[in-house]
Amino acid sequence: MATVRLILGDQLNPTHRWFRQVDPAVVYVLMEVRSETDYVPHHAQKVIAIFAGMRRLAEQLRAAGHRVRAFRIGHADNRQSFAANLRTVFTEVGATRFEYQEPDEWRVDQDLAAFAANCGLPTTVVSSEHFLDARTGVAAHFQKDAKRWLMESYYRKMRVRTQLLMDAAGTPLGGEWNYDAENRKPWKGTPPPPAVWDVSHDHGALWAEIQAAGVKTFGEPSAAGFPWPCDRAEALAQLDAFIERGLPNFGDYEDAMHTTSDRLFHSRLSFALNVKLLSPLEVATAAAEAHRRDPVRYPLAATEGFVRQIIGWREYIRGVYWAKMPGYATANGLGHTLSLPSWFWTGKVKMNCLRHSIGQSLQTAYAHHIQRLMVIGSFCLTAGVDPAEVERWYLGVYIDAFQWVELPNVIGMSQHADGGFLASKPYCCAASYVSKMSNYCGGCPYDPKDRTGPLACPLNAFYWDFWLRHQDRFLNNPRVGMAVRQAAQMPPAEQAAIRKKAAELRANIEEL
Ligand SMILES: Cc1cc2nc3c(=O)[nH]c(=O)nc-3n(C[C@H](O)[C@H](O)[C@H](O)COP(=O)(O)OP(=O)(O)OC[C@H]3O[C@@H](n4cnc5c(N)ncnc54)[C@H](O)[C@@H]3O)c2cc1C
Repeated sequence: MATVRLILGDQLNPTHRWFRQVDPAVVYVLMEVRSETDYVPHHAQKVIAIFAGMRRLAEQLRAAGHRVRAFRIGHADNRQSFAANLRTVFTEVGATRFEYQEPDEWRVDQDLAAFAANCGLPTTVVSSEHFLDARTGVAAHFQKDAKRWLMESYYRKMRVRTQLLMDAAGTPLGGEWNYDAENRKPWKGTPPPPAVWDVSHDHGALWAEIQAAGVKTFGEPSAAGFPWPCDRAEALAQLDAFIERGLPNFGDYEDAMHTTSDRLFHSRLSFALNVKLLSPLEVATAAAEAHRRDPVRYPLAATEGFVRQIIGWREYIRGVYWAKMPGYATANGLGHTLSLPSWFWTGKVKMNCLRHSIGQSLQTAYAHHIQRLMVIGSFCLTAGVDPAEVERWYLGVYIDAFQWVELPNVIGMSQHADGGFLASKPYCCAASYVSKMSNYCGGCPYDPKDRTGPLACPLNAFYWDFWLRHQDRFLNNPRVGMAVRQAAQMPPAEQAAIRKKAAELRANIEEL
């Protein structure tokens, strides 16, 4: 009599109720398999960090007395898929029952459901005990026939539910729900960004194993240090470091970008959160608690902005994913078909903003939200790149990229490929925004003020051409109508020059 419990690579929460009691009749299975490393090419650090986290959890469970069966990527007995390895374990231990935690990715959910239906054992799916809301919570919040679901309305519900940043009368602290408008300062060199939270991991042996197994990755296996926690103690230390040093300025510089700091005051907690070393409630509570203790050091705008990302955006995005899959993955509402330029895989592009943002992503497996949305994503959107290709790149490159959170952010928020269901406007910009929010334009060979000349910044022609191409769709959108009207009212000669310039840039996209 044995129960086999499967632990997925993004289910590394050692406080899950599964582990509260040691039961010799329960065998925990962790596996490093090619079916998970190969569905897209992944950044080297992502593979290393997930495998390192799995190995650390396996060690901790064994040390606590649990039975663990772990498949390493290069082991001869590893049959490289969940189903094949589970069958091996079932035979080894004489399994009479199979259990797994609710997967977060549609692909894995489908695979495991199909396996469970045919494995011949009674199967139980339990909660991963991570999210604040059920998969269906967001859908339940909105009316079924609503054309779009506004995050803000869901976020307010979550504030009430969690009671975070609420006063005794049940109203939001400070009287407003959202202080986003205060969080848009450019950063000019001060205050200094906090030192990088880091631990001295040596993943050399693991990296050698991954390579020897033939796993195809890209990007640098380690940047300066390896800033991704492998266990809960490290993740808690990373959270403390952010609250202490990053949160005070998080709000002011949330949208800023700079060549001297890849993250400025952002937390870099997304990996620890997404592999469930940290819970969203404890992260958001830590921020709210810091504000309660010291509202001067931790301004409300910074704290609210951070809490909103976790209990608002993160949960909302997940709800959209489960409501819209599998069709969401192939949405292409704007009919974009351009191929992703090959320099996305090398960072070799002359445009400074893209060279920095893509180069940093390839080096560190990280870029912060505005780099993802307003530099890389906006370029793809306005140039007209096929959203499925964009999605595939994002899914591989970022340390925190798991499809449930990556796909709606790319397809919905960034590429507006879902017809505006998730985002009430297309997020895109011309060079003036990049120039205002970063120092990327300094030293760039392109002129951020020019639209159509030989050295005009490509962002400009692409931006205006985007509104010209899609003006019928967006003219009445209150959030972008002004820009669309501005494009529509340009003299015909200027419109023609913009269209011509954008077409030339598209034709020479590899040379930008
Ligand atoms: C095109 C695009 C792709 C993205 N892909 C991913 C992804 O694969 N995985 C991922 O976790 N996030 C993704 N995001 C959201 C966001 O950019 C990252 O969560 C954030 O940059 C991670 O860095 P951080 O931990 O320093 O975040 P911080 O700025 O410090 O924010 C704190 C936390 O809030 C959460 N958060 C913030 N914004 C979002 C959001 N839009 N959706 C969900 N959670 C959010 C994250 O858990 C993050 O760790 C994407 C955003 C865009 C525009």
